[in-house]
Amino acid sequence: MTNVGSKCRVCKAPAIIDLPRHNANFCADHFLELCRRQVVKAIDHFGMFEPDDKILVAVSGGKDSLAVWDLLLELGYRADGLYIGLGIGEYSEVSAGYAQRFAAERGLHLIEIKLRDDFGYDIPTAARATRRVPCSACGLTKRHLFDQAAIDGGYTALVTGHNLDDEAAVLLGNTMRWEIGYLARQLPVLPARNGFPKKVKPLVRLTERETAAWCVVRGIDYLVDECPMAAGNRHLGHKDTLNSIEAQSPGSKAAFYLNFLERMAPLLAAHSAEEREALQTCTRCGAPSAGEVCAFCRLVETASAHDPVPVELVMRGKGGR
Ligand code: SF4
Ligand code: ZN
Ligand code: ZN
Repeated sequence: MTNVGSKCRVCKAPAIIDLPRHNANFCADHFLELCRRQVVKAIDHFGMFEPDDKILVAVSGGKDSLAVWDLLLELGYRADGLYIGLGIGEYSEVSAGYAQRFAAERGLHLIEIKLRDDFGYDIPTAARATRRVPCSACGLTKRHLFDQAAIDGGYTALVTGHNLDDEAAVLLGNTMRWEIGYLARQLPVLPARNGFPKKVKPLVRLTERETAAWCVVRGIDYLVDECPMAAGNRHLGHKDTLNSIEAQSPGSKAAFYLNFLERMAPLLAAHSAEEREALQTCTRCGAPSAGEVCAFCRLVETASAHDPVPVELVMRGKGGR
């Protein structure tokens, strides 16, 4: 991860990672220290948690969600995990194992939902049945079930592992289309409001390279493979674009996102408040909804009535969209 012979900026011991945006190299201990500091800075700056918050972490088995769970526990927070079995073939089976082992080895509480068993569908089937792209059906499903589990379990904060690369890529996509509604809500903390839990992204100051390195140094075993349905996902293209800008000009990615939060997000706050007023309650599940029946309940109805579709059939380039 670094040049042979380079030294830690802090203690001059051999470095294990170079971080061009900090213009420095770090040894394992001081790299971990830097990550902790970045997370604490985000928590403090954005007022992410109250001391008595009961936290639920959305866990996928990948580096970001396991890193954020680990970091929050290390910083002294109470946090349980929630894993959703999306039914994306072998990928889901393997990812469940990583989440389960992480929790079991540390004596942590992991709530598990299986879409096929609990709601009668999986993501490949939902994508085919609704003619949505898989990530759209998946995102809708995850958002709803994470929110619902947090509310039902009495959790006061729902944490996701979104990192700086994720947020900057989404920001680039939303900016290129001037999606003002999405931009107004693209915040590292969304306060609780009628029927939604508080949503928090403590990793917004860490890149995905840093969260991966956190896991490696801490000995956390995580699923490296990408979801097979991610291929062609617009965000991946935006990440590549931002990475090439970052390579030319280290620090650009963080400046793009963090300066948006400082300078632009406050100007959009009024728009965000207007949108919040517009919600009603789903007559089927009681969740906040833009219409009489929420999008999740409509998705369940359509997808659970469809014959199961294997993941290969909806992957891009194989009849998927
Ligand atoms: Fe779901 Fe898309 Fe992520 Fe796969 S890549 S887990 S389909 S959102
Ligand atoms: Zn050091
Ligand atoms: Zn509903």
